[in-house]
Formats: sequence, C-alpha cells, structure tokens
Amino acid sequence: MNRRGWCPSLFAPMQSGDGMLLRVKPRLGVIPAPEARALADAARQLGNGMLGLTNRGNLQLRGFTEESAAEFARIIVALGLANPDPASEARRNVAAPPLIGLDPALHPGCFDLVRRLDDTLARRTEFAPLHGKFGIVVDGGGALPMSDVACDILLQPDRDGVLISLDGSVMAARVKQDEAVDATLNLIRAFIAAGPLRRMREANADAIFAAAGLSPAAMRLLRPARPAIGALPGAFGLGLPFGLLQAADLEALADLAEMRGDSTLRLTPFRALLIPGITALPRLALPATKAITDPGDPLLRVQACPGAPYCASASVNTQEAGVLVAAELTWQGVLHVSGCKKGCARPTRSPLTLVGDAGAWTLVRNGRADGTAELYRQPLTTIVQHLAAETSGVR
Ligand code: SF4
Repeated sequence: MNRRGWCPSLFAPMQSGDGMLLRVKPRLGVIPAPEARALADAARQLGNGMLGLTNRGNLQLRGFTEESAAEFARIIVALGLANPDPASEARRNVAAPPLIGLDPALHPGCFDLVRRLDDTLARRTEFAPLHGKFGIVVDGGGALPMSDVACDILLQPDRDGVLISLDGSVMAARVKQDEAVDATLNLIRAFIAAGPLRRMREANADAIFAAAGLSPAAMRLLRPARPAIGALPGAFGLGLPFGLLQAADLEALADLAEMRGDSTLRLTPFRALLIPGITALPRLALPATKAITDPGDPLLRVQACPGAPYCASASVNTQEAGVLVAAELTWQGVLHVSGCKKGCARPTRSPLTLVGDAGAWTLVRNGRADGTAELYRQPLTTIVQHLAAETSGVR
C-alpha cells in the first residue's frame, strides 16, 4: 500500500513496493564519517542498501521489513542521528542551509535560527498536531540559496532582520532577528488552531499572519537555486544521479571525507552530497554510482525510482533507462522514470514519464506514473525514437 499524504519517518516507516521505506534526518544535514559508515552498513544488512536524498535534504532508505526497520531505528538513535522519542523526532523538520559554517556569504544568523527552532519543536508537545510533512526552511543566501526549497514557512535573515513567508508566497513579514523564533512559533500555533490541516497551503495565509500578530507585504527574497555541484565555498559538491547512491558509495565517500576533508559529509535538498574541507575533486571512484561533477549534466533533470533489481515491484532497470534517455535526448523540464505505476520518485505530474510495465515501457505526457499512456508497452528504443522524432523537441 502506498498511502498518498503519508509521511514516512524513522519510527513510522511506510509500506512501499519494495518493502518498508523510512527516513533519517541528521541535524543540520551533517553526518560524521564513522556514523555514515555505520549507517551504510545497517542499510545494507537490514534494508536493500539503496539510499536516496529527499527534497528536504534528508536520507530515504528502502527495502526493510517491520522488524528490520525497528532494528535500524535503534541503530540510528544509538549513532546520535535521531531523537529517541518518536513523537519528538517527527516534529524535527527544519531544513538548514547545507553550507552553514562554511560559506562566508551565508547570513551568520542562520545557525541560531535553525538550532532554536529545531530544539523548540522537538521539545514542546503543543506542536504535536503538526503533520510530518510540515516543514520550515532557513535560507541565508550565499552560494546555495534555499528559497526554492518547498516548505510551509520560510525564514530569510538579512541585514534588517528576518523575512518570514508562508508556502512560497512573495508576501512576507519582517521581524527583528531576536524575534524571529517566537514569530515563527506563533505562526505555527495559528496554523494548528486553524486546523486540522496538513500543509500551510490549505490555510488562509492572511488569517494565519493576522492571528500571529504579523503584517506581511510583498518582499520575500527570491533567490533561485543553483546546482550544488563542483567547487563551493568550503566544500565540494557531488551530484548523485536520481539522488540515489548505494551503501558502498556512502562508505567510500566517508573514507574520502576522512582522508581529504573535515571527516563529515553533508546532505542537501539538491540531489547532491557535499564533502566539506575539499574544494577540488580528488581522484574518485565510487564503487557503484557515477557521481555528477558537471552542473549542466542532463542527468540532473531525470528523476528515477530505484527500479529493478532493487524493488520487487519493478520489471525494468529505471536507472539504466534514465542514463540512456539523458544521453540520447534533449528536453526541457523533468523526465520521470518509474519502475511501475506507483511513481514513488515523483508523485506529481511531469512533462514526460516513462513507466515500466511487464518488462517494457509506457510513455505518459504531462501526467503522473499512473496517467494515460501516449505509447503503451514499447521497447525503450521505440520510445526514444518517438521522442527524438518530434521536430519541436521534447516538451
Ligand atoms: S515506483 Fe519504483 S520504487 Fe516504487 S514500487 Fe514501483 S518500482 Fe518500486
């Protein structure tokens, strides 16, 4: 069963086509190298060894049973990568800038905002009604702005205080830096009082601002996201095809971080891992994943689920197909490659979706993996030829 709207966590895994799926949310997205190796080993022993980055910069792991998921959670808590209280852990949904403490252009107030919000949400049971998908993002500018990361509340510190906006709106309230945490908590209280709601987009934003005693105006800072790939301030970014890597890759990166970096790895919401302390790519051979080092690589626009042989529901190799299509075609927008109609990698509509079906491929245009087929059960080469033949290119 794939429950739409359900948000899997470490202690509440979700049943997926390839077993139980769960998430790990390291604080500030930082994983020390020894913990990364231990996590990778547990993922291989207890799950299917495949790890993915979520669009909030968390780790998603798959292929567990109920029993092995419980054992994995115990290990993650022992490693210090999660709060032992499940309810408290579920409320920790504050995404930090990946280059916090590394990028001198990043606003220095980010760390304090993230730490205080994360601690307060975890500690106070008054916030228990928040849905697991409800998330806060702190964007301090710099080399990797976070303002495009989907969230319910966005905080943007600048020289005049902090701008607070809701659900991607350009309307923002300005508060003083030392009032920003209280203002955010009041917005969350107003949201809970307006409920039961899951996401801020379901609420009346004007009413939420008013209930929190804030007056918004059109002033949110728009900072488009950039690829977190290549040399960055204080770190090197490695793009992961489809945001996926295998346990052996995480172990190899942990070794590299210890040998050449500051002995940590950082997760990002941009399908890339950062290695702090190195600014040039050393000779790097990951055992299983071809890391992306070119920010213009078309593979960055392909989203794929693990597929065969990692998922029992898949009859096709989604990752090989994604690489082949990216090499053969040019197109605008996202290409979604799904091992079956469940569409785990991208539940929303995409310009193009390839869906595995009985060892062949179905093409869906402007839809989800379970959408209406434009081509039905064809070899991949036939679909590539069909798309390449379009004189206007793939839309
Ligand atoms: S979409 Fe992919 S990962 Fe999800 S159940 Fe289907 S094959 Fe498995």
